[in-house]
Amino acid sequence: MSSRAHEFLLLHALPMTSTPPDRICATCGRPFSWRKKWARDWGNVRYCSKACRGGPGARGEALERVILGLLGKRSTGSTICPSEAARAVEPEEWRDLMEDARRAARRLVHAGKVEITQKGRVVDPGTFRGPIRIRRVR
Ligand SMILES: [Zn+2]
Repeated sequence: MSSRAHEFLLLHALPMTSTPPDRICATCGRPFSWRKKWARDWGNVRYCSKACRGGPGARGEALERVILGLLGKRSTGSTICPSEAARAVEPEEWRDLMEDARRAARRLVHAGKVEITQKGRVVDPGTFRGPIRIRRVR
């Protein structure tokens, strides 16, 4: 059999191994894929990693509230920077909260409450890189 034919068989003739679809981490808001170590307990897996285990915590929840609060004061369609939320929660050490603020924004996207944008366009919360803005869902 030619390697071409073999490749075709691999792609089309063999049954697809079915792994469950990706899931959104309840802490960082990023998608994560099924892994064999979770085979027995996939139904209960909520976090992508050890670091995310335990959930967003009080700070994460505060950031979500602050993001929604800041957006509530702006006109529809206007955006905030995650740093504004970080500063509101931790005026001095706000830089330490930037990643937490982005995580909070991702969770709010998955909750259907906000959109994350870059240069005015909505981006995928799981894959964006670089500076973002946050706005209410219209
Ligand atoms: Zn995570």
